[in-house]
Amino acid sequence: VLGTGGTIAGTTSEDSRIAYTAGQLSVEALVGPLEVACAGISVTCEQVSNIPSQDVSDAFHARLLARVERAPRECRANALVITHGTDSLEETAFLLAAAAKLTVPVIITGAFRPATAAGSDGPGNLLDAIRTAAAATQFRPRVLVAFDAQLHEARFATKHESVGTRGFSSGPRGVAGHVVRGEVRWIRPVIVPHYEFLCATAEEIEHLPRVDILYAYPGMDGTLIDAAIAAGAAGLVVAGFGAGTFGNLLQEALERAVAAGLIVVRGTRVAFASVERNVEIDDDRAGFVVAGSLSPSKARVMLRLALRRSRDRARIQQWFDELRN
Ligand code: ASP
Repeated sequence: VLGTGGTIAGTTSEDSRIAYTAGQLSVEALVGPLEVACAGISVTCEQVSNIPSQDVSDAFHARLLARVERAPRECRANALVITHGTDSLEETAFLLAAAAKLTVPVIITGAFRPATAAGSDGPGNLLDAIRTAAAATQFRPRVLVAFDAQLHEARFATKHESVGTRGFSSGPRGVAGHVVRGEVRWIRPVIVPHYEFLCATAEEIEHLPRVDILYAYPGMDGTLIDAAIAAGAAGLVVAGFGAGTFGNLLQEALERAVAAGLIVVRGTRVAFASVERNVEIDDDRAGFVVAGSLSPSKARVMLRLALRRSRDRARIQQWFDELRN
């Protein structure tokens, strides 16, 4: 179990679920109380960091990717569990799924309530994650997100609310499986996309190009886009309206960005929508790439990895298309 911090390792000084500090307890302290429930499963713990996941950086991702690639051999582990804050968990899960050379399944989990709060969901989530990992012989290496007895594929897992404890969803794709009485029950076959073209080393992860996300709003002009160009961005992801649309002022600025050599990806503000090429906006003429069903946060991860390999729009669009279903 690789501990990285988050609310699952958080403590609160009062009986409150609101005021707390994330990343306080060690991963051993989280796993210790589960010893009886984990009987028969040999668990080794390692503290990679102890931070709230809003503080996750490229350096953090590089370190975690290196541990995910090396720990199985060094610790003779058949599977890995990662404890992580929920805020940027979907980026970490998607990055590992896309960029890491996985040799074992990886189950990522966290909690919406700190470890010391009444009704803390961390112990149950961690136990489910460990049990899912122990059932690793049932499936080949891939990254899954375990929350509230549900298993989500990294590609679809999205934090969609922060009230209550069922804050992760796979949207219309639905969950991949459940953990029931300690056993994994698959709901549907999981087709793991081929991510080979996105594989990156820890060193490369630490030096990925700058990509900014811009959130569209009515009347938005190009000020932020020009600022991103000036800041040296190699790419932009726009969280557009509906099917990835935006107004004329923004479109003009984005075309300026394309002319300046940036890769511009059209995404959407709408959770679980899909952005298709040449719908309402002439992508062929403007030189835009569309995100398909990837959320802006995952599209940003994908674009940064893709930019390492190519600056060719058609090629990058092909890679986005590979992950559309
Ligand atoms: N801010 C916390 C974090 O991401 C929230 C959580 O873990 O639920 O670390």
